[in-house]
Amino acid sequence: GASLAGINAAETLRRLGYDGRLVIIGDEPHAPYDRPPLSKEILQGKWTGERLSIRPDEFEALEADKLIGIRAQAVDMSDRRLQLSGGDSLAFDGLIIATGSELRRIAGLPELAGLHYLRTMEDALAIRRAFDESPRVLVVGAGFIGCEVAASARAVGLEVTLVEPLASPMSPLGPEVGQTAAALQHDNGVDLRCGVSLAGLEGAGRVERARLSDDSILDTDLVVVGVGVRPATGWLDS
Ligand SMILES: Cc1cc2nc3c(=O)[nH]c(=O)nc-3n(C[C@H](O)[C@H](O)[C@H](O)COP(=O)(O)OP(=O)(O)OC[C@H]3O[C@@H](n4cnc5c(N)ncnc54)[C@H](O)[C@@H]3O)c2cc1C
Repeated sequence: GASLAGINAAETLRRLGYDGRLVIIGDEPHAPYDRPPLSKEILQGKWTGERLSIRPDEFEALEADKLIGIRAQAVDMSDRRLQLSGGDSLAFDGLIIATGSELRRIAGLPELAGLHYLRTMEDALAIRRAFDESPRVLVVGAGFIGCEVAASARAVGLEVTLVEPLASPMSPLGPEVGQTAAALQHDNGVDLRCGVSLAGLEGAGRVERARLSDDSILDTDLVVVGVGVRPATGWLDS
């Protein structure tokens, strides 16, 4: 994993004096980049993708073999070997697994244009481009990512509905934070609907309507789903 944890681990090994061979493997087609600005500066059009790089000069100078755009597909611990996409394999003495998180997706939704998730730079740039069409935005899930997407969409003047199946936004942080977050969204002009989830999407090739669990129908052009992540460790099972 060549993101925040991976690059920090590699830099720390060098700083602590490790001078053996170091290989960094990352399946995204980029040098390490920061994700926090994706839902903020990128969606609001304040930054372009180039500004996201994490310490680009240090990464360039880091003495390591950088296998960027390569996926670790399986690990054999008995002979300490990693299977890579493209057919190569790599022997190791020590392995740091820093493959982070991957998106949870809502099962059963039709594949329509206008349906987005947000995890990578490409995801954020695609949503940003969609914002330029002045869509009516539906955000599904009022955790950190959903709340930030709603705020960024409002910041660029879009009409936003935010649905959350639980009783308040950010509910794992407790009712006080939830009430404060709900008030912030209301004051910011977001149509926040708690206790409601997405039941389905309809449209001819692209999103036109959302069906919600309270049987209401919402006309919408752009849906951004933010229903959490899970550890990206599935590849270790193969
Ligand atoms: C839109 C957004 C906004 C955020 N905002 C904030 C914020 O404001 N504040 C905050 O503290 N945190 C925020 N976060 C969370 C923060 O980005 C993460 O905590 C951080 O990225 C975790 O870093 P990581 O290196 O552990 O994992 P990740 O960033 O998930 O990186 C793992 C990397 O490993 C790669 N990978 C996965 N599997 C393989 C494989 N088999 N082979 C090779 N490579 C693989 C992945 O593609 C990825 O590049 C945000 C996240 C997102 C998506």
